[in-house]
Amino acid sequence: CGIFAYMNYRVPRTRKEIFETLIKGLQRLEYRGYDSAGVAIDGNNDDVKERYIQLVKKRGKVKALDEELYKQDSMDLKVEFETHFGIAHTRWATHGVPSAVNSHPQRSDKGNEFVVIHNGIITNYKDLRKFLESKGYEFESETDTETIAKLIKYVFDNRETEDITFSTLVERVIQQLEGAFALVFKSIHYPGEAVATRRGSPLLIGVRSKYKLSTEQIPILYRTCTLENVKNICKTRMKRLDSSACLHAVGDKAVEFFFASDASAIIEHTNRVIFLEDDDIAAAADGKLSIHRVKRSASDDPSRAIQTLQ
Ligand code: GLU
Repeated sequence: CGIFAYMNYRVPRTRKEIFETLIKGLQRLEYRGYDSAGVAIDGNNDDVKERYIQLVKKRGKVKALDEELYKQDSMDLKVEFETHFGIAHTRWATHGVPSAVNSHPQRSDKGNEFVVIHNGIITNYKDLRKFLESKGYEFESETDTETIAKLIKYVFDNRETEDITFSTLVERVIQQLEGAFALVFKSIHYPGEAVATRRGSPLLIGVRSKYKLSTEQIPILYRTCTLENVKNICKTRMKRLDSSACLHAVGDKAVEFFFASDASAIIEHTNRVIFLEDDDIAAAADGKLSIHRVKRSASDDPSRAIQTLQ
């Protein structure tokens, strides 16, 4: 029901500061109603050379999740991350009872290779789930959202080139989805990268940097706008977007991105925001945020859409 995600790029933050930002973001969204909450963050087990993703999920109030976060012994609160991407969610169950396993983030597999938070309903999830199960993907929850986590892993496992980008994977995934969604993805295969997209459910991105932000590639339509003038500037101009837009911070590129369902969770951090439109894919990597709009799949028939996956 509520999405909040936070990326600090070359802005050192302790684990404790990251927790506080994520929890505060969720608390700002509490008024929307929810029955459970969860986060995905980077783990810091020194024995593990590779990065891994740690999931903490809890049925009940955001306060219960907050307490649970501090109970995790593997989490050193003082450890500092120069760059980190954390995602957080409050759930209003539509498919599957309120429980820790059904709460978000949902994951692709036990190794948490891909994790996703979702606001909305995937109406063709049964067909997608059947297809993925037939390919050997094992489900653990009753949610529609888990099909998205499995589907991105399926696309990744069947990629034709090694260097496929995170946003290309997400593009392929949303071409198969019917229904309403705002989604934010995190993956161990793309450390320090974030991909967000939406159709029907709201999602916006706040940008904070002490450096001047410059824009590239006809970004007139996606220039960051302040919340005060967003109605005048963004709403009218964004309709004309037909190309990709890219925004990056100059200087040493230190920048923070905030992804949220609602401006109320962002306003305390920055007043520069970008409202995503239907079928926009926003990708943040190396201090850069790129946005492009995806063409919808020609077919509305899920069985045909599934065939294009094979
Ligand atoms: N349909 C999803 C679920 O039931 C997401 C619900 C939400 O928007 O919170 O898990």
